[in-house]
Amino acid sequence: MALEKIFIVGAGTMGNGIAQTAAVAGFKVTMMDIDQTQLEKAKSVISKSVEKLFQKEKISEKGKENALQINTTNTYQEIKNSDLVIEAATENFDLKKKIFIELDENAGPEAILASNTSSISLTQLAAVTSRPDKVIGMHFMNPVPLMKLVEVIRGLDTSDETTEAVIKAAEKMGKVAVEANDSPGFISNRILCPMLNEAVFVLQEDIGSREAIDEVMKLGMNHPLGPLALADLIGLDVVLSVMEVLQADLGDDKYRPAYLLRKMVAAGHLGRKTGRGFYEY
Ligand code: NAD
Repeated sequence: MALEKIFIVGAGTMGNGIAQTAAVAGFKVTMMDIDQTQLEKAKSVISKSVEKLFQKEKISEKGKENALQINTTNTYQEIKNSDLVIEAATENFDLKKKIFIELDENAGPEAILASNTSSISLTQLAAVTSRPDKVIGMHFMNPVPLMKLVEVIRGLDTSDETTEAVIKAAEKMGKVAVEANDSPGFISNRILCPMLNEAVFVLQEDIGSREAIDEVMKLGMNHPLGPLALADLIGLDVVLSVMEVLQADLGDDKYRPAYLLRKMVAAGHLGRKTGRGFYEY
């Protein structure tokens, strides 16, 4: 099953990165969002990013042109002809459930429905569709054009055919696919988000300043980014949401979100995307 046309739902941090990467690799891409300003912002982010990558000779002129031709829409009209749908909307189970019902109703019967969720159960998303064998996790990393990994998550009923097809698509995008079974946070966020959350506890308890916490992890553990700067890059709302899923679904309070993380999200300080998180941008 060769996949050619990709329909991306959500044009935020991840959606625009996935759209860009897929278009540069030669897929025909349509990017959908309910928010027109997000679509405009996504187009401008993509055009700046491909120009930079082209100047650095990381992508070809053809790749750049492909990315500048991504279709944008706020309806499901063009989903019918898509082979692969990648949902990258806000991390919220009720919202994703609603979107998966809509995708199942609107996409062609053979289309694969993938989610870029950071933590939500693929088996539960598959269960609201009529095609659980064609539902799968394609967990790209941020920033998508630069990061090599795609974690491929199989729900309980995901078929081998679906898994093979999305691994091939990820490889065509220049990524390395690593398989994981469906469990809250999968491999990546089961390990990463509790570490980021712990850094917020350390800040909250005034054990060190934001700079001290990030320097210790950078210089002492060889992490390229400190945990607070990384949380800002990911989005504090995303980190909070992942911790809530880990705590609820694994039933263990060791995953409780730091109160400071809740406060930052309540105040709308979500990190880079809003210009303020643990740092100012
Ligand atoms: P974001 O807040 O930057 O973007 C979310 C987008 O979804 C927004 O543009 C919003 O308008 C749109 N949206 C909301 N409801 C919608 C609907 N019904 N239909 C279409 N679009 C809708 O979020 P993000 O950081 O891009 O995260 C998207 C997904 O990717 C989440 O599931 C998140 O967990 C996952 N993810 C995020 C990261 C990260 O580092 N930010 C990494 C890996 C995976």
